Amino acid sequence: MPNPPGHSAATACHICGHLDVEPLEQKGKPFRLVSSDVQPVPGTAEFSICPRCLTVQKTITPTWQAMADRIYASYDINHQSQGAEPTIFDSAKGSGPRSLILLRNFLDMVDLAREGRLLDFGCSNGNLLKSFHGLRPDWKLSGAELFDQWKDTVLALPGVEAFYSGANAAYAEKFDVISLSHVLEHIPDPISFLKEISGHLTPRGRILLAMPNLRQNPSDLIIADHCSHFDENSLSYVTHAAGLHTELFSTEMLPKELVAVLSVGGPSAGPPLAAGDGGKASRERCLFYFKLLDEVREAAKSCREEGQPLGIMGSSIAALWTMMELDSKVDFFVDEDRNRVGHQLLSLPIVDPSRVPEGALVFIPMSVVVAERIIQRWKGHAIDFRYVPTNRPG
Ligand SMILES: [Zn+2]
Repeated sequence: MPNPPGHSAATACHICGHLDVEPLEQKGKPFRLVSSDVQPVPGTAEFSICPRCLTVQKTITPTWQAMADRIYASYDINHQSQGAEPTIFDSAKGSGPRSLILLRNFLDMVDLAREGRLLDFGCSNGNLLKSFHGLRPDWKLSGAELFDQWKDTVLALPGVEAFYSGANAAYAEKFDVISLSHVLEHIPDPISFLKEISGHLTPRGRILLAMPNLRQNPSDLIIADHCSHFDENSLSYVTHAAGLHTELFSTEMLPKELVAVLSVGGPSAGPPLAAGDGGKASRERCLFYFKLLDEVREAAKSCREEGQPLGIMGSSIAALWTMMELDSKVDFFVDEDRNRVGHQLLSLPIVDPSRVPEGALVFIPMSVVVAERIIQRWKGHAIDFRYVPTNRPG
């Protein structure tokens, strides 16, 4: 269908189709971008907010789509730990791989039969499938991905009966659970996608969703291939508009993430939520995050100018981004995750905090709350930690 005069498809909301998305302008130097598999990406992005569905989003252009396709074609997930997932520490369900903590929470709140079928869409190298098999060994598992670079790896996992590739695979079965962990934020039309994928559920089947929560994780804006930056309002809009019943919606279950359990069999979800303030609060929050990224960049530069060896805390999105904003003038990364220590990120070593060289500075690009916890854990070591006091103090 042709667009009305004055509107191009690129300026329509890619979630709800609303034609008047409002640009969100970065006042400072536009920040650089990192792919979701933690690699530098050339260029910057344009952002907007939709006053109807309240989603902060990147403008989807042919250039953006080509960039995302390039990222997926050579996706190297968790390369900083040779494929192992990030570890979650000290959650209510213990410490462990991210997918295991997610699934323990899920199994606590839903009553799953001893046998069934699960499809993990966006399965990459199969970490969630491995975790699920450990918890429900009699279930038959399938993985799906855009490309088939992990096909053999996934098919070799215990419990896996099928691997599907492509956006519209012909699934041989209906599924009791479809997991979409870190998927929806990549997809330009998430409502249509949810409607389509939920057609592959059994009548009492459920969708398990997990994705970054922009309000707890402003670094999500940096991720080049994330076109939607959800919070509880915008995700609720999407799940309602897809006609799905919400059994659970949590901003607390996983650190910095939104988790939802949806079903087709429940009571009607009703119309999408009203836009309320037309996105004013979301808009102001996002502009604050832009300013915060400017402040983190400037604080890191000040550390660099002190002249000592400089380490960056972390070995994921925010850490790589800080290194890029410092034109790679960084000496090492520091991580508490044992799976990462001893490996490299962009050819720089990832060291344990106990191995930080004497006289070095360690810049923490995370929130004040996270920074203070790190500093507390390592207070017995003489590490010169720095962080940004305006970075979301508790
Ligand atoms: Zn919208």
